[in-house]
Amino acid sequence: MVDCDKMKTKSIYLCLAQMSQSGAEQRYVKEAFDTNWITPLGPNVTAFENDIEQWLNRADSSKYVTALSSGTAAIHLALLMSGVQQGDEVICQSFTFCASANPIIYLGATPVLVDSEKDSWNMDPDLLEHAIQDRIDKTGKKPKAIIVVHLYGMPANMGRLIEISHKYEIPLVEDAAEAMGACFDNRCCGTMGTFGVFSFNGNKMITTSGGGALISSSVEDKNKALFYATQARENYPFYHHECIGYNYRMSNVSAGIGRGQMTVLDEHVAHHRRLAHYYRSAFEKMDGLLFHDAPGTMYEPNFWLSTILIHPSVKTKNKIDNSYPADMVAPNENVEALRQLLQMENIETRPLWKPLHLQPVFSSFPIYENGVSLNLFRQGLCLPSGPCVTMEDAQFIVKKIQDFIL
Ligand SMILES: *Cc1c(COP(=O)(O)O)cnc(C)c1O
Repeated sequence: MVDCDKMKTKSIYLCLAQMSQSGAEQRYVKEAFDTNWITPLGPNVTAFENDIEQWLNRADSSKYVTALSSGTAAIHLALLMSGVQQGDEVICQSFTFCASANPIIYLGATPVLVDSEKDSWNMDPDLLEHAIQDRIDKTGKKPKAIIVVHLYGMPANMGRLIEISHKYEIPLVEDAAEAMGACFDNRCCGTMGTFGVFSFNGNKMITTSGGGALISSSVEDKNKALFYATQARENYPFYHHECIGYNYRMSNVSAGIGRGQMTVLDEHVAHHRRLAHYYRSAFEKMDGLLFHDAPGTMYEPNFWLSTILIHPSVKTKNKIDNSYPADMVAPNENVEALRQLLQMENIETRPLWKPLHLQPVFSSFPIYENGVSLNLFRQGLCLPSGPCVTMEDAQFIVKKIQDFIL
């Protein structure tokens, strides 16, 4: 039995992994040791994939899952299998973690960044269509893929985004690294695009200590992913290679943790939503604070992280010395002040993802911008979420925020 209170002592962290109370993870890992299946491609890997497939297919999809070493690896393979090659362009949501876009660079392709819409915080469909047409006008070539992110577990505006992907016949990759358990229009995030991606990193909805999965729509695509994830070894008794592959397969030990985590996934999702519900009702009553909520009934977020926007007019109890260089794009001072005040109470909060077009390493790539993600980055704060945060913790956090705001 593993208890996150042991790690917590007195701090409340943003999002910690929590193992099941039943100890299922340790049983499956022990099984791997007892049967000497420490290598990849053991029975835990297949069983973990089956568990995810069954869990996804409750929502009436018919999907195939390949367990991999990380979510980043899954995005890399999704792009490879979408045919992305050196010199191609790939459209990616700008408001995301760098791992959404890094694989574009791994393949020698060029990211084309697209800003967000105000409601979902995810890719703006109008701007996406404009970007596609403009790329065709400027380069004479269609972008090879579109990477849409369900940031913080809030589903993107998938109805329109899928329509555009169909209209231009460009494969859509859903980065659902943060969105396991979220739904749009009764469909699971990760199952609506050409490919979907989950992450099982330590701070995501479930963990394998590090890992990811690629979701594909046919058994052929699953087999292709397996092939590339195991060094592209051809089917001969000796090692024979006709193309370049990767060492991206999940290990049988990690998959044992994953199998145990699948027994608590629904509980985890329910708890993230319970916390969000509490934060929503608390911040409704506070001027200048806006809880990031589902923009409509079709959206069923998992609230991986609950997030708020802090209006620039909100004053905090004490000012801070901002140590950033003057020309650096950073969160507003009242956001940083609140973060520091909460940190002094051992409450970990974090600014929102800094949009990729504002990252020096991505700043030279084309960006289709509307100012939305910049504004969100300046005003936003992520609050402690997940199974290690108790309802009492959430009450304490809200109380402290109330105290710190004038
Ligand atoms: C975590 C994350 C990834 C990468 O997943 P890893 O398993 O850490 O490689 C990709 N995209 C987003 C939006 C993420 O949050």
